[in-house]
Amino acid sequence: NTTEQKASPTPTTTAPFDVMARRRDFPILSRRVHDLPLVYLDNAATSQKPRCVIDCETRYYSEYNANIHRGIHSLSQQATNAYEEARDAVQRFIHAARREEIIFVRGTTEAINLVADSYGRRLGPGDEILVTEMEHHSNIVPWQLLCERRGAVLRVAPINEAGELILEDFERLLGPRTRLVALTHLSNALGTINPLKRLIVLAHAQGAAVLVDGAQAAPHLGVDVQALDCEFYAFSGHKVYGPTGIGVLYGKAALLAEMPPYQGGGDMIRQVSFAGTTYNDLPYKFEAGTPNIAGGIGLGVALTYLQSLGLAAVAAHEQALLTYATVRAAATPGLRVIGNARAKASILSFVLDGVHAHDVGTILDREGVAVRSGHHCAMPVMDHFGLPATVRASFALYNTHAEVDALFAALAKVREIFP
Ligand code: PLP
Repeated sequence: NTTEQKASPTPTTTAPFDVMARRRDFPILSRRVHDLPLVYLDNAATSQKPRCVIDCETRYYSEYNANIHRGIHSLSQQATNAYEEARDAVQRFIHAARREEIIFVRGTTEAINLVADSYGRRLGPGDEILVTEMEHHSNIVPWQLLCERRGAVLRVAPINEAGELILEDFERLLGPRTRLVALTHLSNALGTINPLKRLIVLAHAQGAAVLVDGAQAAPHLGVDVQALDCEFYAFSGHKVYGPTGIGVLYGKAALLAEMPPYQGGGDMIRQVSFAGTTYNDLPYKFEAGTPNIAGGIGLGVALTYLQSLGLAAVAAHEQALLTYATVRAAATPGLRVIGNARAKASILSFVLDGVHAHDVGTILDREGVAVRSGHHCAMPVMDHFGLPATVRASFALYNTHAEVDALFAALAKVREIFP
């Protein structure tokens, strides 16, 4: 047994959410940028890492670095145990029924490509895949590639001016040819939360499988894959306070068992011969080659850390920040919020009249405020609103109301420069 998961903080779920204490968990938050305190509001791109995640990676490399699953020596066993305990932590975090349903991948992008490649082989000419207009490119392009390979057809459910999915259109686009619905839980460009449960019921009624892109939702919304009843759920470690280069594909065991491997190599096989090769059990059938061992262990620690804070308390804190930022935005002349869905989380996307988003981002950076300016890998969303780019401020558990004030003070500076 290793100690990584136990090394995470003990649960504090009953205590009120103490943001200043949590900030001390994240070493980077004490650094300065342009000689000003860092105000990090680019969490939708990647979030910062708590000390427990940084330390566990250091511990792996300095105390028990070894390859996993194949060694009988002590270090290899210790590393294997830590990695497999991380899988258990992921299972707990998303409430999966079985640990074999947790496949470690590089991130959301690889998870979606895995499903498009492997599950996608079931699709043939004329079969349909339904996505939404608010998807990240990584939940569009793999399906376009699949359509090219298999002659399938990509359908797109549109959004309204508030940035919400139009439910009637979604329902109308579902049909007997729909084999797969791929949609985001929480939009990275707008902050919209999709009514997933309802959409999944509609998709299942037509016999379609559902893949949920949970890249943005995992850090902010509780995920229960059994309650959702989705076939697949994908998310990235680096957005959920874990390392880069590691992520998760959840899939229902019965489906994964039927699916062909995605990549071939070591670890994913049981027996190799030139007469024929047999594949390993789940989840290893989908984990070819030496994985990101330190990353996997770190992801487990990150999820255990986040859960220990109480997901509901974290979500309430982030919602309060978003509400406050939205009120301040409404009081800022010439600022237009893009995406006014009734159900939103953690993301404020906006434009300033007469100022390009990149100029806004550059001036904010000089004030120590880190935001994202651009198309957010969601060009169809930008097209929908007729914009080249937006400015996106995105909140995490360690952000404060004072940081929201710093954002708006910096935006006032932008206005001074671009009156
Ligand atoms: N899906 C959404 C909604 C995202 O926000 C992102 C990242 O920005 C991705 C997918 C891709 O994630 P990754 O680059 O970690 O694979």
